Amino acid sequence: MGRRRKARKPPPKQKAIMPLDMQFNCPFCNHEKSCEVKMNRAAGVGSISCRVCLEDFQTNINYLSEPIDVYGDWVDACEEANA
Ligand SMILES: [Zn+2]
Repeated sequence: MGRRRKARKPPPKQKAIMPLDMQFNCPFCNHEKSCEVKMNRAAGVGSISCRVCLEDFQTNINYLSEPIDVYGDWVDACEEANA
């Protein structure tokens, strides 16, 4: 006798490589992951906006820029504005 071992299903296809996390906490309203970055590399502009308080910001980007850089610029600009 001996039951056949249950055939293991092959693992699902490997997850596609996820894009970098493009959602950040908002420096204005402090909501978590409410800010989404859009990288317009063709135009050399990165924009970020908060879907909760609708604050937004744009900065120049280059081919090395990452969404976190756009966010960092925004936070810096906020701190300067508050200084
Ligand atoms: Zn916000």
